[in-house]
Amino acid sequence: MDPVIVVGAGPVGLSAALALRSFGLPVTVLEAEPEDRVRPGSRALFVHHESLRLLDIASPGLAAQIVGHGVVWRTRRTLYRGRQVYAKTYPVVPANELPPFTSLRQVETERHLLSACKAADVDIVWDAEVSDVDVAADEVTLVASGRPLRAQYVIAADGAHSAVRQKLGIAMRGKRSDGFHVVVDVEDDPQDPALLERVFHYEHPAMDGRNVLRVPFAGGFQIDLQCKDDDDLAEFATDEAVRRWLPKVIDRRYLNSILWVSKYHYLQVVADTFVDPWRRVLLVGDAAHLFPPMGARGMNSGIADGDAAATAVVAAMSAANPARAAETIGRFDRDRHTAAQYNSDAAGIALAHLKPRSPVTRLRQRLAAVMSPAVPALGSWLEHAAYGPRTAPPSNPHGKY
Ligand SMILES: Cc1cc2nc3c(=O)[nH]c(=O)nc-3n(C[C@H](O)[C@H](O)[C@H](O)COP(=O)(O)OP(=O)(O)OC[C@H]3O[C@@H](n4cnc5c(N)ncnc54)[C@H](O)[C@@H]3O)c2cc1C
Repeated sequence: MDPVIVVGAGPVGLSAALALRSFGLPVTVLEAEPEDRVRPGSRALFVHHESLRLLDIASPGLAAQIVGHGVVWRTRRTLYRGRQVYAKTYPVVPANELPPFTSLRQVETERHLLSACKAADVDIVWDAEVSDVDVAADEVTLVASGRPLRAQYVIAADGAHSAVRQKLGIAMRGKRSDGFHVVVDVEDDPQDPALLERVFHYEHPAMDGRNVLRVPFAGGFQIDLQCKDDDDLAEFATDEAVRRWLPKVIDRRYLNSILWVSKYHYLQVVADTFVDPWRRVLLVGDAAHLFPPMGARGMNSGIADGDAAATAVVAAMSAANPARAAETIGRFDRDRHTAAQYNSDAAGIALAHLKPRSPVTRLRQRLAAVMSPAVPALGSWLEHAAYGPRTAPPSNPHGKY
């Protein structure tokens, strides 16, 4: 019997595996897809300081490796209907310090996590789709590609459609907002690179008042178009549609440099519980929660979940008795559930700001934009409110997520 099996080799499963290895435990990761799979290009760009710190504890040197392949933009700019309302350039981060974040495509982050896992002797089993889970008081039996496997504990990082969560009958609760946004990854021209700035444009005049975000990543930048509730996918989200609207917000020359297009719906859901009744299976990452993307809480909070799950499993294994072990896993559930609820609410606050239902909110934003030259704090409010509150969840006061 394995001490612990991780299900899913996404960023969260790989992070959890590294954390477990740092405690000296042997780890098997079961991944449904083949080793040569192609993962979707767009998704999480932003690897936050706290995630880098946790990854570096789990795998010393990994943070420097990720930072070395990412970019840190120092300038943030906010525009409102074509006019700048906020701009700030931060000082250069000293080379010997971890930056507040780094930005690279999720596929790249996953590549670094995977090579760290290989170096740490994590046993990754590809083509191993988990289809069934049976939990008893002292062990878990998984069926992966028809083969039964037993473990003392299971960390389920099998993503939004988690088979493990479904087999355990754990429901996701929350809401799905109307509308979607379209994410386009664009490769930069190394001979004539775009400015290394994150630019958020409220009510972009060329896009009939839709919000447009531009975020740099290593080797390019992402354009994120926030569509209106009644927008038609065919008009904005197909490759053809993107080629129609993209030149309205960036130079036409980038039409030949589109790397990836995806659409993203605004889900704000959290699993009822992150553990099974026997406290042997721990849900982490997208298997446990899905947030709207503002504030980059998806992958970053998943990395914090993975670290907390690994710590809880190690503590439970050395607990004095089964009741203490169950208590330890129960604490993981309480802490990470509270953090997820907090992240969900925070992303919801950002969403309410970006897609205001009430005309009063829209009016406040318009007034703030008009008055921002005289009252810079109003420009700062427009800049920061788009990402939700910046405080830490009460259950995780040292980490942002
Ligand atoms: C368009 C888009 C933009 C995003 N932007 C951001 C962002 O800016 N910032 C941010 O933090 N997050 C963002 N996210 C969310 C982020 O991508 C996810 O939160 C992150 O991928 C979650 O990682 P995970 O490991 O939990 O799940 P996943 O990445 O989904 O990985 C799950 C893994 O489990 C495997 N698997 C699934 N089922 C099984 C099974 N039955 N058996 C075995 N293996 C299985 C899958 O093949 C996969 O490898 C974005 C997502 C999208 C789609």
